[in-house]
Amino acid sequence: MREIVVIGGGNAGLSCAARILRRRTGETARVTVVEPSPTHTYSPMLSYVGSGMAGLSSVCKAQRRYMPSGARWLRARVTRVDPQARTVALDNGTELDYGDLVVAPGITPDLDRVPGLQAALDGPFAATNYETQLATKTWDLMSGLREGSAVFTVRFDDAACGGVGYKPLFMACDHWRRTGVLGGLRVRVVVEAPELFPEPRVAGHIADALRRYGVETVLDARIESVDPDARALRITRNGAPETVDYDALHVVPPHRAPAWISDSGLGDGGSVGRVDVDPETLQHVRDPHVWSLGDAAGLGVMSSGGAIRSQSPVLVHNLFAAGPAQFQRYDGYTVAPIALSRRTLLLAEVDRQLRPEPSFGVRDLANPRPWTFLFDRWLQPALYWKGILRGLI
Ligand SMILES: Cc1cc2nc3c(=O)[nH]c(=O)nc-3n(C[C@H](O)[C@H](O)[C@H](O)COP(=O)(O)OP(=O)(O)OC[C@H]3O[C@@H](n4cnc5c(N)ncnc54)[C@H](O)[C@@H]3O)c2cc1C
Repeated sequence: MREIVVIGGGNAGLSCAARILRRRTGETARVTVVEPSPTHTYSPMLSYVGSGMAGLSSVCKAQRRYMPSGARWLRARVTRVDPQARTVALDNGTELDYGDLVVAPGITPDLDRVPGLQAALDGPFAATNYETQLATKTWDLMSGLREGSAVFTVRFDDAACGGVGYKPLFMACDHWRRTGVLGGLRVRVVVEAPELFPEPRVAGHIADALRRYGVETVLDARIESVDPDARALRITRNGAPETVDYDALHVVPPHRAPAWISDSGLGDGGSVGRVDVDPETLQHVRDPHVWSLGDAAGLGVMSSGGAIRSQSPVLVHNLFAAGPAQFQRYDGYTVAPIALSRRTLLLAEVDRQLRPEPSFGVRDLANPRPWTFLFDRWLQPALYWKGILRGLI
């Protein structure tokens, strides 16, 4: 019997563990999930919490309800992996042997990388949906703004599902327009990339929406620091320093993977410190018994929960394949659902080459529509809790 250890009971870890246990053919497996948290967080819903359209109870649920039946749950935190000895060290001082290892601990905000950011988030004028407990503050801050300057930051490469940084912006703008205060506000989006979105058609829709709401765009920026006392973002553009003042700030912070990935010799050497896997087979490039998926996997695509739906079947197939000749390949599918108002949303679905890859074979899901908004707000969460985490979707 195969001994498989899964690190992380998030979207990637649980959907993969459930899929392994659902297999009805071939070799059987014993699956251990190492996950310290008693709570499972459905992060995509945080965008709706930060827009006043959902409560935290729809984000956080008891982990034990979603642990796949048949899996052993170890409530501990991994501190190191020894790929030679095939052991995992835990924070309770014990060690765990594995035959195969699936590394899925996600990535977390790296607030220390931006001087002043933590202090700004601790103060009254800045928030982020990327920290569960701060999402309600986003809405308190934005819905309470009547005059002055609102600033939203967006980044793609080193944050989960980067494009969703536009959600709090557009849903706040729609709210301000409906309540008649938008005209009196100065609203800016600071994008830490040369374009509004890597796929041109999606970038065009975002540009149209920004124009409609009168939002100013600051492209190709690098956020150097935040000064919470002066309420100012210090950025550089084309090598020159600039200051962006705010009265209300929503930040998409840079993220990092757990340090033990690199310390254990499993890292890809990048700034986020993700796992060095083959981006198509999801197998570690140096160790055939180590696999990874989800935000912590170095796959060269914008990470997202939607991407895990494509990765999980590939990883599970390859884990039990007779050899590399039988491997399946992940094509790099990823998605960013971007709400352009409080009732319309577009699905930016692309493959590794940034070519459109619509889920249902319908090309214009990249057009903003009311039904895709309803899908994202209401149907997708139900599919997540009832199907995705159970390895059914
Ligand atoms: C605000 C926000 C909005 C988003 N919106 C969308 C969206 O609309 N659509 C979309 O597709 N995606 C969205 N995403 C991205 C999506 O949530 C992530 O891509 C997805 O959750 C990644 O799953 P994961 O399992 O890799 O990581 P996570 O879901 O973060 O799970 C990682 C798990 O590993 C555990 N862990 C961490 N360290 C250790 C350790 N040392 N030992 C053991 N366990 C550990 C953690 O406790 C956690 O349970 C959003 C993310 C955020 C933050």
